[in-house]
Amino acid sequence: MKEKRSQERPACSIKSEPFPTEVTCPECGVGVEIWSDENETSCALCGYSVYRHERYVN
Ligand SMILES: [Zn+2]
Repeated sequence: MKEKRSQERPACSIKSEPFPTEVTCPECGVGVEIWSDENETSCALCGYSVYRHERYVN
């Protein structure tokens, strides 16, 4: 389902091709894939909104 997203992108944005990162759902503890161009995603198991906690720490 998510792979379609990168194919829809125009060639000019190929430099920042999205990639998945696995985060842990704080609600149920399951691994959730969140893409680099998403700020949040929903846990497939419990539907909890999981936010990306990447190295965007100051
Ligand atoms: Zn969950």
